[in-house]
Amino acid sequence: MEVICYPHPTLRYPAKPIQRVDKELREVIAEMFRLMYEHKGVGLAANQVGVPLRLFVMNESGKLGQGKELVFINPVVTKPRGNEEMEEGCLSLPGVNANVVRPKTIFFNAYSHTGEEVKGDVTGYMARIIQHEVDHLDGVLFVDRLSPSVRNSIDSDMYTLELDHQSKQKTGLLKSDEELLNESKVWQEKYC
Ligand SMILES: [Zn+2]
Repeated sequence: MEVICYPHPTLRYPAKPIQRVDKELREVIAEMFRLMYEHKGVGLAANQVGVPLRLFVMNESGKLGQGKELVFINPVVTKPRGNEEMEEGCLSLPGVNANVVRPKTIFFNAYSHTGEEVKGDVTGYMARIIQHEVDHLDGVLFVDRLSPSVRNSIDSDMYTLELDHQSKQKTGLLKSDEELLNESKVWQEKYC
């Protein structure tokens, strides 16, 4: 498994709710944590590793052995309150950072990989990460939430990523968008 980058089509394909968790899916979760730490991230959604299921992992500290590892299965965000601007980046958009305005406080509920319900009001950084990751599961990237002027300022970075994707497909390093999407749908047949 590896972290896939914009404009990989699986990032734009909405993830589906998970009906069951088995050993293979727990191994996917472990691999997601490993990749998240390797790339120095604080959260990683399953569709960022080509698995279009409603699942993400996070650790606010971003460091193995520190902070708390959290697994969110079928997360739902409600009751957004307040507004806050904060700089965001994304492991699927390497080199792209920009300020994003989002609700400051939210309520969430989800299930852990052991089947326990987790829920609560969260604010600040944790609320930010949860919203960013749930966006991924809906096929939304943080760059979709930028004002037009800020979006313009990162246009060339986005274009560079698009050219890289196309050149990898031309040289056979990456399959076509259609093949990539079909490959990811196998996960939904199995767990949805
Ligand atoms: Zn992201």
